Amino acid sequence: MEALSEHTIAFSGLKDGTHEFDFVLGPAFFTATGVEEFLGGEASMHVRLEKSSHLLVTLIHVDGHINMLCDHCNAPMEQPIKGDQRQIFKLSAENETDDDELVSIDPGAHEINLTHYIFECISLHLPIRHVHAPGLCDPEVEVALEKVQIHHEPTPDPRWAVLNKLRNKTA
Ligand SMILES: [Zn+2]
Repeated sequence: MEALSEHTIAFSGLKDGTHEFDFVLGPAFFTATGVEEFLGGEASMHVRLEKSSHLLVTLIHVDGHINMLCDHCNAPMEQPIKGDQRQIFKLSAENETDDDELVSIDPGAHEINLTHYIFECISLHLPIRHVHAPGLCDPEVEVALEKVQIHHEPTPDPRWAVLNKLRNKTA
C-alpha cells in the first residue's frame, strides 16, 4: 500500500537510544490498504525505535480489530488482531542482505516511513479463516446451512474407491 505521511518518523533529530511512538489506525487506513475484505476497523499501533549510529531497530505492535465478513455466515464481524513485528533499518549504501527483517536505507536519509511495515504486521497476524466466536453466527444462516447439509448427503468421491481397490490389491 502507499506510504501515509502520518507514519513517517524523522529520526535524524533523535538522540541515540529508545524512542516510542503511537499511531491509531481508523477506517480510513483500512480503506487505504486496498484490501477488499477490510470493511473498516480500529487498531492501535505502538512502535519502539532503538536508534544507534548506523541502525534503527523498530518493534511494531498492533492491537485492535478489523471489520470483515464472517467466512461461515457472511454477516459482519470484528476480527481481533494482535501481534508484533521487528524491522531493522541499516544506514548503508550497499544492499548487502536478502534478510526480510533487515533493510538497507540511504545513509543520507533522515526519515523512515512505516506504512508498509505496519500493513505487513497486520497481514502477518491476520488468521486465514475469520469466523464469529462459537454461537455468534447469524442464526438464520445457520438454519439454512443445516438444511443444505441434510438435503445434500455427500456422495463418496469416486477416487477413494479406486484408491481402496489399489490398497486391497497390495495388502
Ligand atoms: Zn458468522
